[in-house]
Amino acid sequence: MRVCVLGAGVAGLTSAYQLARDGHEVTILEGRDGAALEASFANGGQLSYSYVAPLADPSVLPHLPAWLLQSDSALRFVPRLDPQQWRWCLSFLLACRGERARQTAIEMLQLGALSRATLHDLVQREAIDFNYVRNGKLVVYRDANAFDAARRKMAYLQTAGSDQRALDAAACVALEPALERAQPLLAGGIHTPSEEAGDCHRFSVALADVLKTRYGVTIHYETPVHSFVTERGSAVAVRTPQGEWRADAFVVALGNGSAPLLRELGMRLPMYPLTGYSLTIPGAPGQAPRVSVTDLHRKLVYAPLGERLRIAGMVEIAGMHVAQRERRLALLKRQAQEIFPDAGDYAKAQTWCGHRPATPDSKPLIGATPYRNLWLNTGHGALGFTLACGSARVIADAIAGRTPPLDLGAYAWQR
Ligand SMILES: Cc1cc2nc3c(=O)[nH]c(=O)nc-3n(C[C@H](O)[C@H](O)[C@H](O)COP(=O)(O)OP(=O)(O)OC[C@H]3O[C@@H](n4cnc5c(N)ncnc54)[C@H](O)[C@@H]3O)c2cc1C
Repeated sequence: MRVCVLGAGVAGLTSAYQLARDGHEVTILEGRDGAALEASFANGGQLSYSYVAPLADPSVLPHLPAWLLQSDSALRFVPRLDPQQWRWCLSFLLACRGERARQTAIEMLQLGALSRATLHDLVQREAIDFNYVRNGKLVVYRDANAFDAARRKMAYLQTAGSDQRALDAAACVALEPALERAQPLLAGGIHTPSEEAGDCHRFSVALADVLKTRYGVTIHYETPVHSFVTERGSAVAVRTPQGEWRADAFVVALGNGSAPLLRELGMRLPMYPLTGYSLTIPGAPGQAPRVSVTDLHRKLVYAPLGERLRIAGMVEIAGMHVAQRERRLALLKRQAQEIFPDAGDYAKAQTWCGHRPATPDSKPLIGATPYRNLWLNTGHGALGFTLACGSARVIADAIAGRTPPLDLGAYAWQR
């Protein structure tokens, strides 16, 4: 079958990989002049399969007033005259209900586990280089109550198969000596040895190369998709400035471009961009962390990427418009230096601002649409790198008519 994948971010490229391995003739159409130049460019780099709990959780509700009022909060809401923003926020609040959040967390853990297994298989087969490390992750807490709550949650996650252990502040430093100067700030941490890290952009570029050279996939860059041509309930082609592209099936993996494109087909995807920032600094030999670290108090993540350290975080519900880029990046730098003052050369930081293509309940949209041969693999929010390989496997199974290893209904787009 001729399959056209729309989007060459990490979701589109991994989808193309699974489809090509199934023997389909795959073409990718991408608006930018290279792979992974949008959300997949300089993200946190964490492959965080056990930390996939949704952002929408009852525990966030007490923090909402602070988000609204503090300009320097990690999470910010910037109200706009945009009905999509208000609809998304309302759905987010509804998704915070306890039972729904718990069910979502279980479904995301299953997708995380599938993603890990699928990525391991890909790495073994293709031997691609993307600063991949199986280095474990340490989530550190500054507040004793938050640490106690995390320990309780850990006990619950262990019943779902997560291998984790709680460490006091000294044990955190013993595990990750780069935290030594931050020890007085720490109440403790949760260590998950099975977590991993890598450079999502390098992964995507290397995978694009593998797709072209080993699987005969054609990738057309600078080819923005403007609309679909449909006939009798099927998509037959997409329109681009270079002309129409016909295929037997289409996979929409356009990240933040997905909802605008599908709106003209009458499909309203519940997605909104959540802005975040990152710094990439040259790591100081012997001083930069080797374990991935999440500072839960600041909601910042740290991942070693070869000789570099990636620092990422902040969530702004403000649309694609970025009003305070330099101010937020300066704040990110200050907050990172609080915990890792000697980790690297902050003066040489490469800065980035990206937009997570997020659904209100954090679950990606994977599966069928009202159009017989039009499929979705989008809306991966804060976890697209982590969940890409599993999501790709699920969509390829669905297109092939195989029963996916997960309940597809959990990721279906609800009309
Ligand atoms: C600050 C930050 C930190 C993050 N940290 C992590 C992390 O540590 N771990 C993790 O797992 N995830 C993380 N994420 C999330 C992750 O980066 C995203 O979920 C993921 O990159 C989404 O991939 P995607 O392929 O769906 O979207 P994208 O990478 O945005 O790809 C979509 C592609 O579609 C193209 N496109 C859009 N519209 C059109 C059109 N009309 N025609 C043609 N092409 C089009 C775009 O150019 C783009 O290349 C982070 C995100 C941010 C912003």
